[in-house]
Amino acid sequence: MADRFFPNEMPDFVAEPPPDAAASGPKDSLTNLLHLPYRTLSDILRSSALDLKETVVRQTWGLGGKRVEDYSLYTGALGTAFLAFKAYQVTKNESDLKLCSEIVKACDSASTGSSSGLAFRELSNFDFIALLCTAWACRRVSFICGRAGVCALGAVVAKHTGDEMLLDRYLSKFKEIKLSSDLPNELLYGRAGFLWACSFLNKHIGNGTISATRMRSVVDEIIKAGRQLAKKGRSSLMYEWHGKKYWGAAHGLAGIMYVLMSTELKPAEVEDVKGTLRYMIKNRFPSGNFPSSEGSESDRLVHWCHGAPGVALTLLRAAEVFGDQEFLQAAIDAGEVVWNRGLLKRVGICHGISGNAYVFLSLYRLTGKVEYLYRAKAFACFLHDRALRLISEGMMHGGDRPYSLFEGVGGMAHLLLDMTEPSEARFPAYEL
Ligand SMILES: [Zn+2]
Repeated sequence: MADRFFPNEMPDFVAEPPPDAAASGPKDSLTNLLHLPYRTLSDILRSSALDLKETVVRQTWGLGGKRVEDYSLYTGALGTAFLAFKAYQVTKNESDLKLCSEIVKACDSASTGSSSGLAFRELSNFDFIALLCTAWACRRVSFICGRAGVCALGAVVAKHTGDEMLLDRYLSKFKEIKLSSDLPNELLYGRAGFLWACSFLNKHIGNGTISATRMRSVVDEIIKAGRQLAKKGRSSLMYEWHGKKYWGAAHGLAGIMYVLMSTELKPAEVEDVKGTLRYMIKNRFPSGNFPSSEGSESDRLVHWCHGAPGVALTLLRAAEVFGDQEFLQAAIDAGEVVWNRGLLKRVGICHGISGNAYVFLSLYRLTGKVEYLYRAKAFACFLHDRALRLISEGMMHGGDRPYSLFEGVGGMAHLLLDMTEPSEARFPAYEL
């Protein structure tokens, strides 16, 4: 187990030094970072993030002749566009907005027609998720791996550039997306992933951009499927993806519950969501971590995709929406697991340190406790101080797609940008 993550040897908490405090003697570079005043540190992280963003853009866009082979947000060009949009939100630099718009346009072309989203090259040594992304890309429905992400981000960026015609065009394209009856329900490829894109549009463009009727029809299908599969079990709702009843954010209960809580639910549906979350809390591991799937006894994974980090973000959403203390407490417990075992030997947001840091940002946003901001800062400082070196030395995995948003340093750049305004930070394509 120990080889999945670095032991967390950082102090549990370092108080913010007073502005006029004299610097104490030199320590190692990471400790020095942890003792900096927040504003000073956030300027350093921001500068590092913008450099990293330039590298990501060069590697995923410029060097490839601006051609898109993988259009997905997960491992492909849309992830770079999303990062450029984040950079624009932080710096207000119009060139980032223009770049984002240009990349989304290329993703739009790549995702229409017969494109499968990923070229069938390098598949022999390709990771499972990306392979499935290829297989499912023809369904084109989710934000993270499908066409909904392209159209939704395109519309939001068009709104920012003030291009009404382009905005309408992307929205029309979004509304043309059809959901097949055999679609899974999970977030990465399924109905929840489409629904998330609807909520994203309504948040950034305006309520009713995607009608309540359209969203209701998807919610109905998700609830119906969940109740049906839960019939013989103890949870209120249950889902299956490729024959397994997953619990995590990417393919399972946590992701689906998150999305449902961001829509208008009927009272009985609210009870089903609460019941499902209570079932998960009741059946979590004694450590506070969550199984990756129903019945799993292996307390091993501490990822956004599988385990405590993704579930914690969902529980925090539940605490926010329902106001129940039990959800907040379980999220706090999960946060302890992330602090102790979440310094993963990977960099990205799906199953790496960058994604795990968002748990502390979310805990900070909901509780206002500076201890959580410190923990987010500690994970971000660890990345800034060591990640690129550890990757180059082979001590840390840089991701199968090393510059991507979900697996690579694209996610790290996004986190470091989010550190500049922690109260506005959101896990990409998950937290609304
Ligand atoms: Zn993952």
